[in-house]
Amino acid sequence: MPKTAASTDSLHGFEPYKETKGEEYMNEKQQEHFRNLLLAWKAELMAEVDRTVSHMKDEAANFPDPADRASQEEEFSLELRTRDRERKLIKKIDATLELIDQDDYGFCEACGVDIGIRRLEARPTATLCVDCKTLAEIKERQISG
Ligand SMILES: [Zn+2]
Repeated sequence: MPKTAASTDSLHGFEPYKETKGEEYMNEKQQEHFRNLLLAWKAELMAEVDRTVSHMKDEAANFPDPADRASQEEEFSLELRTRDRERKLIKKIDATLELIDQDDYGFCEACGVDIGIRRLEARPTATLCVDCKTLAEIKERQISG
């Protein structure tokens, strides 16, 4: 099958996991696959955070024009929000790596079923199966109106 940019992007350069017939769900090989995937993703995010911090240091010049200053501040605050999201994501990745170490990775935390390899490859930090996730989203919508 030809490699598409989309599939390798979401897997951070990794090939999708190929299960062998009768393979046990979340055996050591699968855990290893997801550990590598999460570590690669984390490394990408951390490089991204570093890049922004140094970019902001470089650009933190004094603009004499208030309009330039304002647009720079706006740009920085947008970047800071992005960085904040990335830091939270890194924390979530760390928590997920811990789950792998404890042999708890890959199972729905609400109902206990297998979350599934394909879903985890699309969302390595998922802690809910599709059904529970859908339910949680419906509930959330009802609460927020
Ligand atoms: Zn579930």
